[in-house]
Amino acid sequence: MSATTSTTERRLLIKSATVLTMDPEYGDLTNGDILITGDRITAVGPDLTDRAPADAEVIDARGMIAIPGLIDTHMHAWQTPLKGLYAEGWTLDDYLSKVFYLREHFTPDDIYDATFSGSVQMLDAGVTGVLDFCHNVMSPEAADAGLRAHRLTGQRALFAFGMLGSFGAPPEDHAWRLEHVRRLHEEVNLGGDGLLRVGMALGSVEYGTLEQVTKEIGLARELGMRMSIHQNPPGQIHALHEAGLLGPDIVPAHANAASDGELAALAACGGGISFTPEGEFGGGGSMDILNRAHRIGAQPSLGIDTHTRVSIDLFAAMRLTYLLMRNVDADTERRAGRWPLTYSPDVPLIRPRHMLEFATVNAAAHLGLSDELGRLTPGRLADVVLVNTEPYGIALGDPAAHIVLQTTPRDVDTVIVGGQVRKQNGVLTDLDPTAAGAATRRVRERVFADAAAHGGPVPDFEPAR
Ligand SMILES: [Zn+2]
Repeated sequence: MSATTSTTERRLLIKSATVLTMDPEYGDLTNGDILITGDRITAVGPDLTDRAPADAEVIDARGMIAIPGLIDTHMHAWQTPLKGLYAEGWTLDDYLSKVFYLREHFTPDDIYDATFSGSVQMLDAGVTGVLDFCHNVMSPEAADAGLRAHRLTGQRALFAFGMLGSFGAPPEDHAWRLEHVRRLHEEVNLGGDGLLRVGMALGSVEYGTLEQVTKEIGLARELGMRMSIHQNPPGQIHALHEAGLLGPDIVPAHANAASDGELAALAACGGGISFTPEGEFGGGGSMDILNRAHRIGAQPSLGIDTHTRVSIDLFAAMRLTYLLMRNVDADTERRAGRWPLTYSPDVPLIRPRHMLEFATVNAAAHLGLSDELGRLTPGRLADVVLVNTEPYGIALGDPAAHIVLQTTPRDVDTVIVGGQVRKQNGVLTDLDPTAAGAATRRVRERVFADAAAHGGPVPDFEPAR
């Protein structure tokens, strides 16, 4: 990978941070600098003042922990304005009758506003990268609108184009999707700047057919495109494996019903799962999946899934995941009569740092960027988050534990994406949170009015002022 630069490129020097490179070779630096040139990290070390040009912009990061930008590998940004709608029952029936019922009332303008709102909130919360699983592409214009919103916010996004149309749609509904994806691949993946990419949100084996999914995977592989698939009922990873379709370029999301055999098949091909802990556990999903996946080697990454249930907060997702994995380990020990908690050699001792790996290193791999992203080392893309530990001070012990156990989005001081400062001193530099709020309200007004006009149930809400 080239880290060559021109003299006109912007230089940024982050000074005196606790740097968690997430790379075994570089380790942690207690008083470290990061030099960024253009969109890449060009040096990481104890004092880089002499290496930085005189015109470099300096960010004083004393009291801050520098981490690779967090990456959410399973998010439905189009659902952002439906915040809280699915928080009561948490059953699949609720989801289909409340959230998915409204899906077809979204116009391209709604997809644009919803995606914009979600992406701004993610950047504000230190989520520099996302796999946006957009299973609400009802027209080519809807996909174009989602892409336009991502282009405007400048988050590093893999826009996973939804292959699943209306339930019971005729086969023609599938054909245009494949054609449009091919066109977008040329426009965005081949003709773009790399910050935004198009991938594929495969129609599920559950709601589509294996024949359709096979076609989708064939096209994605022809184009070298990343894919994700919803894996809810048991047996779907097995079905893909049996059909010879499984590969590291497909990230199954949720996957809490996956068997050890399915996880082993994923691990064998270098794949992993995207897990959305709060959604799973709130919905009664299995608690031991992450421990099994981690032990078997099907490396997990994390996602928020849907704002209809929980906040856009990957710190909370990491914290919950850590506590749950630890709890599952403890349960194993207790059942074996080993108590108080004394780990046996075959029980993985989960540490907070594993969670940060899930949300950075593993997530970068799931986006197909394992050599480009997820670690703070020279040559990699400069997606960096500075977490402020002041005024109350850094936690004792591992600074990764401060990130996982002590941090909330409120502590996100600085967000850098591709070398561009997008948030500084706790404030977004070029995006307006109130515009994101207004976009959310516009979607609610339009979508609920359209649903009401078609005689459907509509949630109560406060109209825009
Ligand atoms: Zn999902």
